[in-house]
Amino acid sequence: MNIFGETYHVYIELSNLCNYAYMHKGCLASRQTEKRILPADKVYNIIDTLAKYKYGKGKSLSFYNYSETLNDPRLFKFIEYARKKLPDCDLIVGTNGWYLNDVMAMELYDVGVDLILVTSYTSNEHIRLVKIKNYVAEQFKRGNLKAFMIRRVKQMDCRLNMTGKKGACYAPLTELILSSSGDLRLCCIDVRQDGEYGNIHKKDFEQIMIDVYPKFYDLRQQLIKSDRQLEICEKCSFVNRLQKSFTLKGDFRIGSGQAGIYREGKK
Ligand code: SF4
Repeated sequence: MNIFGETYHVYIELSNLCNYAYMHKGCLASRQTEKRILPADKVYNIIDTLAKYKYGKGKSLSFYNYSETLNDPRLFKFIEYARKKLPDCDLIVGTNGWYLNDVMAMELYDVGVDLILVTSYTSNEHIRLVKIKNYVAEQFKRGNLKAFMIRRVKQMDCRLNMTGKKGACYAPLTELILSSSGDLRLCCIDVRQDGEYGNIHKKDFEQIMIDVYPKFYDLRQQLIKSDRQLEICEKCSFVNRLQKSFTLKGDFRIGSGQAGIYREGKK
């Protein structure tokens, strides 16, 4: 059995820190009272485990969740390591853009990133980020650059509304979230559970996945039939979450073809 056979997105939350948390009250990072940083050996172990199961083409690895990626001084080391171990996997850097300019963007691509996903927090910042995107597109000689995406902060907040919609969900197992506390989470909405599905500080990541795989699989089967048994799912505002990555097995491109474009274009 390939414990990552059904998984298309892995998120490693390197910390619970974000320098924009103070002005983004909707984000979990704004409510943290204690700084948490995921130890490097845990990050390498996750990458090694993914490599062991040949996690690759059509799948993605990101170094963020409720956190800012470019704040982490270890990031380039992790990207280089992941690029070497997971040559076909799409590597994504999600950022609030504060530490991003033309130089940083190009150096991220140079070290192996496929997609820079940046959130704009103000109108002025949005204009600045569009200029970076245009610069990058110019460097790649591409009019419609898909390796650089900009989203507005409101698009991120909608997931935490918890309006309790009914409908299907494909998230469990399709995405795996390793939080900065070491907890494996059900999905990106699942921010309050405490080690329910396993914690990499207490158990090896591979063993956690072997143990949790049947549970996540069954949960997803129920959710696909719109059967929302868990309280968190009953309250959740997502419908058909990750349906696209679930149905396009083995042929998934982030969004609609963003990741991998740079490396493919380089050949
Ligand atoms: S319904 Fe919502 S809370 Fe439940 S697994 Fe899906 S995205 Fe997560």
